[in-house]
Amino acid sequence: MEFSSKLLEKAVNEMAQLPGIGKRTALRLVLHLLKQPKEQSEQLAAALLTMRHEIKFCKSCHNISDTDVCEICANPSRDTSVICVVEDIRDVMALENTGIFKGLYHVLGGKISPIDGIGPNQLNIVSLVDKVKSGTVKEVIFALSSTMEGDTTNFYIYKQIKDYNVMTSAIARGIAIGDELEYADEVTLGRSLMQRIPFENSLNK
Ligand SMILES: [Zn+2]
Repeated sequence: MEFSSKLLEKAVNEMAQLPGIGKRTALRLVLHLLKQPKEQSEQLAAALLTMRHEIKFCKSCHNISDTDVCEICANPSRDTSVICVVEDIRDVMALENTGIFKGLYHVLGGKISPIDGIGPNQLNIVSLVDKVKSGTVKEVIFALSSTMEGDTTNFYIYKQIKDYNVMTSAIARGIAIGDELEYADEVTLGRSLMQRIPFENSLNK
């Protein structure tokens, strides 16, 4: 792609770094911004910068938050004895949309994936195991997507907590194998949560 302007080229190249955005789309977006009032670009840039600098991760569940402890963990009406283990904030949003779950979450920040160089140490697993060891948790619900990486991660965590007098369960597989939680509709996801099964029963299936 030949550019008549280095400034334009730089903006397009930066935009094209985003997932799912090829150079053509990046060029279209940048040209769109050029046609709009300058304020729009300024607001976009400012929002991204402020988010990047000021966003926090909840000290307890690692969810993305504006405060040290997220709104869900700080809500006194949530059941602190039930913890739902998810991959990232998109899963928290999907499960919250069902309106069914009243416990807390634990956001791992990914799944164990040796191919991508992601081991257990890169994920928020130790803090989850510590919570279970503290004795305040009655049930841990595994709600990772049912991919090989999800299953590996579930089992890794299960092995570390199973001896600590905690119930472990997995959401029912109304969600097709390999589907990501965020794509499941709210009714299906809510049902999967309600019809969760003991984790041991979810193995070898
Ligand atoms: Zn939290």
